[in-house]
Amino acid sequence: MYDFIIVGGGIVGLSVGLSLTKQYPSKKVLILEKEQELASHQTGHNSGVIHSGIYYKPGSLKARLAKQGNRSMVDFCQKEGIDYDVCGKVIVATN
Ligand SMILES: Cc1cc2nc3c(=O)[nH]c(=O)nc-3n(C[C@H](O)[C@H](O)[C@H](O)COP(=O)(O)OP(=O)(O)OC[C@H]3O[C@@H](n4cnc5c(N)ncnc54)[C@H](O)[C@@H]3O)c2cc1C
Repeated sequence: MYDFIIVGGGIVGLSVGLSLTKQYPSKKVLILEKEQELASHQTGHNSGVIHSGIYYKPGSLKARLAKQGNRSMVDFCQKEGIDYDVCGKVIVATN
């Protein structure tokens, strides 16, 4: 018996699973993944950029979530000892 069942072991399913286990430590969480390994699709094949949110309308929900996600991703990497590189970005105005 499980209290929560998540379909899909990409970053979204795994993040939801992690949040649920933190929020409800006594509840049982099951993640169903159709592949042999987790993160086999988009999550394991993206460009690896931790987006800053700079392209989104300032103050919009998307911009705020991108900034919050940026911070929480860096925090997570620090806590878990995962290498990351905050290298910055050069944006050139072409007109
Ligand atoms: C080319 C590319 C580059 C990108 N670059 C970046 C980037 O630089 N930075 C960034 O932040 N984002 C980037 N993204 C976006 C980011 O990778 C995705 O938004 C994110 O990985 C989506 O995660 P997800 O968990 O929703 O999906 P997925 O990682 O696709 O996970 C879904 C999982 O569900 C499983 N599944 C599907 N159906 C079932 C089923 N019926 N039963 C069981 N399991 C099932 C799949 O096997 C898969 O493992 C990029 C995306 C692409 C395609």
